[in-house]
Amino acid sequence: MSAPDLLVVGAGTMGAWTAWHARRAGLTVHLVDAFGAGHPRATSGDESRILRAAHGADRLYPSWARRARAQWLELGDAVGERLFVETGVLWFGRRPDGFEAASAGTLRDLGIAVEQLSGPEVRRRWPQIALGDDEFAVFEPEAGLVLARQAIRRLVERFVAAGGTFEVALVRPPDAAEGGDRVSVVEIADGRRLAAGAVVFAAGPWLPRLFPDRCGPLIRITKQDVLYLGPPAGDPRFEAGSIPCWVDYDAAIYGIPAVEGRGFKVAPDQLGRPFDPTEGERLVDPETVRIGRGYVRRRFPALAEAPVVETRVCQYESTPDTHFLIDRHPAWSNVWLVGGGSGHGFKHGPVIGETVVGLVTGRPPDPAIGDRFALGRPRQPEPGVRTAGHEG
Ligand SMILES: Cc1cc2nc3c(=O)[nH]c(=O)nc-3n(C[C@H](O)[C@H](O)[C@H](O)COP(=O)(O)OP(=O)(O)OC[C@H]3O[C@@H](n4cnc5c(N)ncnc54)[C@H](O)[C@@H]3O)c2cc1C
Repeated sequence: MSAPDLLVVGAGTMGAWTAWHARRAGLTVHLVDAFGAGHPRATSGDESRILRAAHGADRLYPSWARRARAQWLELGDAVGERLFVETGVLWFGRRPDGFEAASAGTLRDLGIAVEQLSGPEVRRRWPQIALGDDEFAVFEPEAGLVLARQAIRRLVERFVAAGGTFEVALVRPPDAAEGGDRVSVVEIADGRRLAAGAVVFAAGPWLPRLFPDRCGPLIRITKQDVLYLGPPAGDPRFEAGSIPCWVDYDAAIYGIPAVEGRGFKVAPDQLGRPFDPTEGERLVDPETVRIGRGYVRRRFPALAEAPVVETRVCQYESTPDTHFLIDRHPAWSNVWLVGGGSGHGFKHGPVIGETVVGLVTGRPPDPAIGDRFALGRPRQPEPGVRTAGHEG
């Protein structure tokens, strides 16, 4: 194989979309993943991910989410499958000055559809949701869910059909001892060497292991448990189409309606314990079940006794302020580090991919981004734009 213009390491949402946009821009591109596209250890490998525009007072992520939404829809149209499901997203709130109210104001300003609903209004529209009279909800009708694993697989297939190449292999980090300010060759675990004009490491939760000095201090990997509850037989009230995705930011928990025959997804959103994405055993903690059930009992009383029918263990790769990492490696001018999804990166994959390809090909970056995603920028722990307002 002659040396491609670009080698992308990692076929999660960030790497696969980077590979796609680079190919579309006319580059020759080789995409490599250690385990394949949409595999169960990848952070992008779960059944579903929420796509929402609400990010509190932040204005960049809502516009990214809308641009990304158009691309997920376009991908679905191109491959003839429903990959984005417009369920809407319902944010439960209590505080008039909280994340939800700030989000509603921002979305209105940006012309993105949003409604503010009282507790009784929510109960009228979705009687299966128990929202108190002292609570309210912010509803984003055009938000929804992406069928994550399926979408990543289709994207990689489309990339290959468009002339990209893909292989399953473990890439070693560049060798600093080789010197120079460019990396022309990377080594594969089987000893082969791959040459490329530029290399993007979009290695998700493996970035700290690949680049311990640069990414170790910045990105923290935590175990995140997800439950799927089984609604009663013949009960459609918890399926996509009957109930939106939902987020309780202050209570640090969110969920996704049953879709494609799976259960009603419930995910407590406190940061879990440190986790190894390769070797970690993916068994949920009893504490997660206790927290999930406790919340569901109050909020969705018809599911109070619903059994856990499936579980999944994922991991967050979080930066302190929940902003992503998209930057050039300080030692090598043609190596790029992309990751730090921080529990909200999946939906933005299409725009992250465009942004990375812009940087690699020397396009001037969007001034609205500033240094938000820079490697060297000091980052303070912030409540952040994930679906939880405080950390465990
Ligand atoms: C429980 C949970 C819920 C979430 N919910 C949402 C949500 O609702 N909405 C949302 O937008 N985001 C959500 N996120 C966050 C989102 O899933 C992540 O930000 C995103 O998937 C990260 O994608 P990535 O491409 O950076 O990493 P990954 O998907 O992990 O991809 C990295 C890839 O790199 C490969 N790789 C690593 N090292 C090497 C190597 N040396 N050689 C070759 N290949 C390598 C891996 O095999 C892997 O496939 C959630 C995350 C979790 C855990």
